[in-house]
Amino acid sequence: MYDQVIDKNNPNSALKVTKGVANPISVNEDYLKRVKKRTQLSVDDYVEGILAGNRTILARAITLVESNLYKHQSMAQQVIEKCLSASSKSIRLGITGVPGVGKSSVIEVLGKMLTSQGHKVAVLAIDPSSERSGGSILGDKTRMELLSSDPNAFIRPSPSAGSLGGVARKTREIIILCEAAGFDVVIVETVGVGQSEVLAHSMVDFFLLLQLANAGDELQGIKRGIMEMADAIAINKSEGKEKERSELAANSYRNALHLFPPTESGWQPKVFTCSAYSKEGIDTIWNAVEEYVEMTKKTGYFYQNRNTQNLRILTESINQSLQDNFYQSRIAKEKLDIAKDEILDNKISAYIIAQKLIEEYFQSLKQGE
Ligand code: GDP
Repeated sequence: MYDQVIDKNNPNSALKVTKGVANPISVNEDYLKRVKKRTQLSVDDYVEGILAGNRTILARAITLVESNLYKHQSMAQQVIEKCLSASSKSIRLGITGVPGVGKSSVIEVLGKMLTSQGHKVAVLAIDPSSERSGGSILGDKTRMELLSSDPNAFIRPSPSAGSLGGVARKTREIIILCEAAGFDVVIVETVGVGQSEVLAHSMVDFFLLLQLANAGDELQGIKRGIMEMADAIAINKSEGKEKERSELAANSYRNALHLFPPTESGWQPKVFTCSAYSKEGIDTIWNAVEEYVEMTKKTGYFYQNRNTQNLRILTESINQSLQDNFYQSRIAKEKLDIAKDEILDNKISAYIIAQKLIEEYFQSLKQGE
């Protein structure tokens, strides 16, 4: 009835109806868009992003690889498979040395030199301490500040979850993704204090050991085995007054290396001095890497070595799966602890009980358990 008297459209009327304004949503819209995107990437989105060199998508794919969730793992495997044909074209360089020798400093200078020459450089790390202590030797400090802000570099700390074997597997997969994203130099950094350098060595083309002039091998905790794996040794911190001492150390390393058996690659390992501070000798390291790659590609060793590394992954993966399967089986769960007690009580030999358990395990598989 009032409708007839009141003109709602009259702008002067106190009863005029104005159009409401929608309440703003309480969450930042950009964030919502991002979250939406996060949940929506398919395997093909990942692959497309990686092949286009999109670093954000590469980083997210790596997070997928590092995840222990089954659904992430299965997606990661599909992404890796599709990236495989675009990988393998890089030079993989391992760098090891005790904490404090100057690994990150050298990698920063080397990395900057390479990006200025048009290379794209990925730096990955294998750090066993992240597993043991929850902290990490390689990740604690602010590292490679210049390189990390370089658009042609990509730095990723060590995957921390799981065993060292698990970390190594993940690093290998991350190398594939980085290569597919166009990184043509992949540096794998590791601390020279344990098994990690053996693993790093098993996934790179060239292995560089950094040393200091002022300490003997024992002091530096470097085992002979690591020296044998090295394709080059560089004595770092060799600037100013230290130069002379470094040259002397380099000479004794050269003499020591001559006593080692010839390498499989036919390459005579080289010894240099270098300094991340003065930047001297860093180009010499890279020249050696290039010389090595050229030589081993000519002889075929480069490809043969990569094939050997790949086939080793096959064997390792099969071994790991079989082992996991056994330890998760009913037989292991029910009988392993009892067997251990019997061994400790000298009731049975470890070898015999191992055979028995394996037989029972296979029997249980046959019965469809
Ligand atoms: P990392 O633990 O092997 O990665 O070693 P860092 O790169 O963190 O270096 C350890 C320390 O040595 C740092 O204080 C660096 O500034 C220093 N350092 C690294 N390279 C050189 C170098 O060429 N000369 C000198 N004098 N010091 C260096």
